[in-house]
Amino acid sequence: MRLSRYFMPTLREAPADAQIVSHQLMLRAGLIRQEAAGIYAWLPLGLKVLKKIEEIVRQEMNRAGAVEILMPTLQLADLWRESGRYEDYGEEMLRIKDRHERDLLYGPTAEEVVTDIFRSYVKSYKDLPKNLYNIQWKFRDERRPRFGVMRGREFLMKDAYSFDIDEAAARRAYNRMFLAYLNVYSRLGLKAIPVRADTGPIGGDLSHEFIILAETGESQVFAHRDLVEMGAPGPDIDWDGDLQPLVEQRTRLYAASDEMHDEATYAALPEDKQMTARGIEVGHIFYFGTKYSAPMKANVTGPDGKDTPVQMGSYGVGVSRLVGAIIEASHDDGGIIWPDSVAPFGAAVLNLRAGDAGCDAVCEQAYKALSDAGIDPLYDDRDDRPGAKFAATDLVGIPWQLIVGPKGVADGVVELKRRSTGERQTLPLEAALKAII
Ligand code: ATP
Ligand code: MG
Ligand code: MG
Ligand code: MG
Repeated sequence: MRLSRYFMPTLREAPADAQIVSHQLMLRAGLIRQEAAGIYAWLPLGLKVLKKIEEIVRQEMNRAGAVEILMPTLQLADLWRESGRYEDYGEEMLRIKDRHERDLLYGPTAEEVVTDIFRSYVKSYKDLPKNLYNIQWKFRDERRPRFGVMRGREFLMKDAYSFDIDEAAARRAYNRMFLAYLNVYSRLGLKAIPVRADTGPIGGDLSHEFIILAETGESQVFAHRDLVEMGAPGPDIDWDGDLQPLVEQRTRLYAASDEMHDEATYAALPEDKQMTARGIEVGHIFYFGTKYSAPMKANVTGPDGKDTPVQMGSYGVGVSRLVGAIIEASHDDGGIIWPDSVAPFGAAVLNLRAGDAGCDAVCEQAYKALSDAGIDPLYDDRDDRPGAKFAATDLVGIPWQLIVGPKGVADGVVELKRRSTGERQTLPLEAALKAII
């Protein structure tokens, strides 16, 4: 992409109402624009990051055996009347009437819709287990939308739903999601702590939240330090095998959100193993058995020939919230520092004297080589001051900067800067390209 043709409206200063650094940087770097309270347009750079996060979530869901579908944003109120949640859900639900006076709602979650899909097709234990997920916009009329996409009203969620014949099988489904989530966050460059959590309006009796540590987080967590430091399980696990040991290795270490916190148990941990901090909820998984399948009559026939309500769980990842969460975890005074896995562009080529034949030629060569290698470079070909180019490239957080100026071109070298460390090297173009590719 040539910057002269792109749309990257960066701002010198963040609007005063942006309180936390990720919100400020998302506005300044031109990732999002607020259209209404908690409702955002995604600009090109923000959309690219959002799509990359979405794709990582998708890959890890698929790896763990889940199957993607796409459910509508608008749902029939009648389905929610069947489950009994239509009245219970309260003010966060956006209720809508169509021209026939039918009650609709903009889905805040999709247990009812997916249960309706499931019950229409699946009748026997032989067709289980199943896990269906979608990555779709949700709406919750939050009382206090704030911190940009971190607490939006319209936001993108990955929500998966598991269906199993009995509790033991449902726990296996839960374990798969538990471990898949850790892999998702690790690929995003985040350290997420699984903490025991309250089930809230989703209901049920087994639940974990995934929290990343950040001072601006809205949750308080208490955890055993060994859990905080434990790595993700990695993709090479036997997804059909016994995952209980891997899950237990983590769940036997104390970790709780404030609602579930038990001070006595926590205080009994060795003092150097106690860790309490603020955090951001970036995912939440639930096992809730027959809470929806029983009232909605999603029954399956078991091996004994008897019909029973299917056992369910649901599993949410805050995809759009993660864009803000990653920035909270990875920035400096100059701006965003994207992890390579979600960076909107793999490298930036900075032409310090656009219009100079030598600089233009080297930049074009670099741009072509990086494009051919699939790095997806952003070429700053604008006629602008070097200082402005450096500041903009730092602000938007592209992992590599390949800097081409007239003096270097005369000497047969370019400069290569790594955004995360600030490290700069002067070297021939070929060597710089090799370092990036
Ligand atoms: P919170 O406690 O932050 O209000 P929640 O517990 O109500 O979140 P869940 O129902 O568990 O949310 O939804 C699954 C995930 O969706 C959350 O873990 C979070 O990452 C994301 N999420 C929830 N509400 C929002 C929101 N208003 N804006 C952006 N992401 C959200
Ligand atoms: Mg909420
Ligand atoms: Mg919550
Ligand atoms: Mg939650």
